Amino acid sequence: MTNAFTWLFLAALAAATAARIWLGQRQIRHVRAHRGAVPATFAQAIPLPAHQKAADYTVAKTHLGMLDVLIGAALTLLLTLGGLIQWISDLWGRWPEPGSILHGAALLLTVFFVQGAIGLPTTLYRTFVVEERFGFNRMTLKLFLADLVKQTLVGLVLGVPLLIVVLWLMGRAGELWWLYVWLVWVAYSLLMMMIYPAFILPLFNKFTPVEEGELRARIAALLERTGFKSSGLYVMDGSKRSSHGNAFFTGFGAAKRIVLFDTLVSRLQPPEVEAVLAHELGHYKLHHIAKGMVLTAGVSFAILFVLGQLIDKPWFYQGLGVTTPGNAAALALFFLVLPEFLFFLHPLTSLYSRKREFEADKYATSHASAGELVRALVKLYQDNAATLTPDPLHSAFYDSHPPAATRIDRLRTL
Ligand SMILES: [Zn+2]
Repeated sequence: MTNAFTWLFLAALAAATAARIWLGQRQIRHVRAHRGAVPATFAQAIPLPAHQKAADYTVAKTHLGMLDVLIGAALTLLLTLGGLIQWISDLWGRWPEPGSILHGAALLLTVFFVQGAIGLPTTLYRTFVVEERFGFNRMTLKLFLADLVKQTLVGLVLGVPLLIVVLWLMGRAGELWWLYVWLVWVAYSLLMMMIYPAFILPLFNKFTPVEEGELRARIAALLERTGFKSSGLYVMDGSKRSSHGNAFFTGFGAAKRIVLFDTLVSRLQPPEVEAVLAHELGHYKLHHIAKGMVLTAGVSFAILFVLGQLIDKPWFYQGLGVTTPGNAAALALFFLVLPEFLFFLHPLTSLYSRKREFEADKYATSHASAGELVRALVKLYQDNAATLTPDPLHSAFYDSHPPAATRIDRLRTL
């Protein structure tokens, strides 16, 4: 059974998939074409072999990303027009009772499970072949499996109650169910932000307070200068899984913790860590985090409103291969096909994010040294084998951070 909506969906899926592959190919071509020489901005700091390693790493990751795109598109087709969602719904046909909350939860959990299982081989390949080949992987198969089990359990414990509440509201709350679901969703997101650092992260990593010494003193002085209140400064054992480094905050209000990856602390000098942290503080002080939350809440309001309009339209289900409409099937279909319809908005979110990065850099240079931030970023680009020569269009589409050369050139003028 097909209708006009089927063709609209197929057109969106085809356009988004083709664009993803085309952008990937552009990226590979561009990176390969610039493999032979380090860009002028980095000529003093990054040796040619490191630049070439970054090019090869980027090409390998992009190839794998393109494979993921094709697998994802095939799975989306299989779940919808291929009838897999309908088949799963029928599979849970006798028990739990069709139309019940339990039936809906069983259907959605099965869809999640299928998606997870299909994505597993490429995740394994990414970790144990690509990351391994370029020397980034620190994960053992045992740790990978332990993580997988823990993540699944945490996901079930945190996700199933939400799923039940949402399905209950959809069934019982009348016309405006989507508004109540939105309120629940916003409250749930805030709750997660509170419990994530205190209860979830420690299941996966160890946190140790930063030792007394130059780094601690510098960070204390930086916090004093910027008037930032934090409930603790920790180093996280990120090196357990990967040698990529990072710094971030968790929590909010008075319970904000600053977390530095051990890989960052071991590779950067204290003044460089200070500059990186000043950048992160900039995101906080310029309200990027709060603005991001408000924006996400606004977007989810719009998305749930649209779902509220679609949910009782037979053409929505028929057009996507489902013959027995229901709330759970609607959720599964909607969130499966939505990314295909929204794909071409991606450059907007990336642009917004890159603007925030420039602002945080500017903040960092007024509270710490611009030169140290440049040195830190160059080290991180090299250590992470980040490409210095991305395809401009690929970068405009996807990159949350400005291209390396643009960012460094701008920092040097500050
Ligand atoms: Zn940033």
